[in-house]
Amino acid sequence: MIDNAPVRTLVHKGLTIEGWSRAAVQSYWRIPELKVGFDLGAQPWSFMGTGTWLLSHTHLDHVAALPVYVARRRMMKMEPPTIYVPEASVEPIERMLKAVARLDRGRLPCRLLPARPGDEIELSREHVVTVSSTTHTLPSIGFVVWERRRKLKQEYHGLPGDRIRDLRLSGTEVTHEVRAPLVAYLGDSSPEGLDRCPAMFEATVLITELTFVAHSHRKEKIHKFGHMHLDDLLARRARFRNEVVIASHFSTRYTDDRIRRILAKRIPDMLDGRLQVWL
Ligand SMILES: [Zn+2]
Ligand SMILES: [Zn+2]
Repeated sequence: MIDNAPVRTLVHKGLTIEGWSRAAVQSYWRIPELKVGFDLGAQPWSFMGTGTWLLSHTHLDHVAALPVYVARRRMMKMEPPTIYVPEASVEPIERMLKAVARLDRGRLPCRLLPARPGDEIELSREHVVTVSSTTHTLPSIGFVVWERRRKLKQEYHGLPGDRIRDLRLSGTEVTHEVRAPLVAYLGDSSPEGLDRCPAMFEATVLITELTFVAHSHRKEKIHKFGHMHLDDLLARRARFRNEVVIASHFSTRYTDDRIRRILAKRIPDMLDGRLQVWL
């Protein structure tokens, strides 16, 4: 295996979260079981097999590897990937891919699709993604991956199986869809991006940016840049129902040590052990 980019891994209830993120450097994440990834700031060689990507916004630390990834898939004779991006970014990305294809003298086959807040994206029969709006310095979106199941409607509980089968055969809808949020990805955003999408607080796993942690970095100014401060996380601590909260995308102004020290001091219980700091 070619090791071209750092990857951290966490397994929780059958979901493998893989990724790495640092502000202004690169961000990329994927969940192999869901066959989906978020952002392409770089593309670890091992991520190539994932064919569907959801891009939160077009800052270079989140999209720089998009043409590289598409070219590698073609070179390895894999299916052209499907890449969802904010609607306003589709046309400029198409132009960028055309220019890169000319420079590289190679085709860049992919399905580039717009994602708008409110959209639903089908990943499979069991999984669907919802798109929400986030607040950054350019068009940006967040994502929640839901598990969906068909469940027998309440009124048919207790009926014998053959009676339910007869109802189904006669065209009666005996089941309804039940959804549960599995993984939420905020991307880059001020805390409004979380507040606007309640499912972010409910998802089993939340991947959130936490660009600024130091007291000297004022949160009012940070909100203008479309980012989160540790104070924003603390102000919402009672709302996080997630089983795992992965904090990432820390500013390069801090050393790893300083981030760990500040977090240990300000959240000594690490959200009852649910907070993971990814450095
Ligand atoms: Zn970023
Ligand atoms: Zn950004």
